[in-house]
Amino acid sequence: MSTHYDICIQGSGIVARTLALLLAKERFRVALMGSPKPESASDVRAYALNAASKNLLESLRVWPEAAHATPVLGMQVHGDTSGKVNFSAAEHSSEALAWIVDVPALEAQMLQAVKYQPLITVVEQAASAHLQESSTEIRRDLTVICEGKNSVTREELGVEFDVTPYHQHAIAARLTGTLPHGNQALQWFKNGEILAFLPLSEPNQTYPGNSVALVWSVAEERVKELMALSNEAFAAEVSVNSEHALGAMTLYSERAVWPLQLARADKWVGKHPILGSWALAGDAAHTVHPLSGQGLNLGLADVAELAQVLAAVKGKEYWRSVSDLKLLRRYERARKLDAFALGTVTDGLQQLFARSESPLQALRNWGMQGFERSGGLKQWVTKRAMGL
Ligand SMILES: Cc1cc2nc3c(=O)[nH]c(=O)nc-3n(C[C@H](O)[C@H](O)[C@H](O)COP(=O)(O)OP(=O)(O)OC[C@H]3O[C@@H](n4cnc5c(N)ncnc54)[C@H](O)[C@@H]3O)c2cc1C
Repeated sequence: MSTHYDICIQGSGIVARTLALLLAKERFRVALMGSPKPESASDVRAYALNAASKNLLESLRVWPEAAHATPVLGMQVHGDTSGKVNFSAAEHSSEALAWIVDVPALEAQMLQAVKYQPLITVVEQAASAHLQESSTEIRRDLTVICEGKNSVTREELGVEFDVTPYHQHAIAARLTGTLPHGNQALQWFKNGEILAFLPLSEPNQTYPGNSVALVWSVAEERVKELMALSNEAFAAEVSVNSEHALGAMTLYSERAVWPLQLARADKWVGKHPILGSWALAGDAAHTVHPLSGQGLNLGLADVAELAQVLAAVKGKEYWRSVSDLKLLRRYERARKLDAFALGTVTDGLQQLFARSESPLQALRNWGMQGFERSGGLKQWVTKRAMGL
């Protein structure tokens, strides 16, 4: 006999697990179709999460301890000539601009929380599972697809996913410098590449305040070249390209590579003859270039909104079901524009710095200086990125 759930969530990432915890808090019975194990205990990435994401994860008691969530007090963005923009938490009377969160530490917290939430049933399912298999075994009123950018179910539903590849890959790794980072994030736009240092407080390193998570977005051909270098040669290349801001760098992790793309689903909600009502969230609905460090922040904002919209059926809209398309469209309206706007802004920045013509180079660096002096505009952009 098959069991009935209010909501079935497909996916094994942070977005899927956050949604499961949020819905269980609203007393929904949830089936979480995914892997019961961490995604990867050795993910070298660290995410820049904003205040809105931090508040959300804290409310679910899954925010990692201080050693794994480093506050960013300032950020310097360097253009390819004289352009420079400084951001500071103090200017906004804020504790931090963002927090750099260790991915395996956050995933471990989420797994524990899901395990001890009695309203969540984890149903082990391979990422390659098909719509037919998943929908016959488990009865549900609504399916939320949080399968990431390569979602199979989204494809089977026939949702158009408009993908623009960047012909760029991100190399992620962890390094330590001979100088402390002082809780500053650093970013360089140079020769069409984007190199970022996110400050970490690695307790296991000799100088915990000197460690950074590197995200280096480079052209496809250059990836091969950089990945073929020895650890020492790679670290030396990072030192040069970061203008020795943290002195000489040493690599202390594996290097991992991600292909980059801008992508958007045309529909976020709908009804399917086999699956019934469905909704997309997180990278299954949108992916953005990591230069803004906003992909997961967007996904978490999606599920916070979706959980809030669905909670209406437990209160003032008790006559509706979670499968009600009117309700689901409310979620789509609330989130689609935000994701679209952020994707467009980060794409614009990536394109602007990808070109080498000298008039453009002068214009973008002049633009950065203008932005630095713009006062209100800079304040507004910073507050949005901070999730305030
Ligand atoms: C180099 C890099 C740096 C980044 N830095 C930042 C940052 O600083 N800040 C930020 O906010 N974002 C950042 N991001 C973006 C962030 O990684 C993504 O936005 C986020 O991981 C999306 O989460 P998700 O749960 O939607 O998808 P995913 O993380 O892709 O998780 C989905 C998971 O579900 C699994 N799955 C698929 N199908 C099924 C199925 N049928 N059943 C069960 N499981 C399934 C997949 O295998 C996958 O593991 C970065 C991305 C990259 C590449």
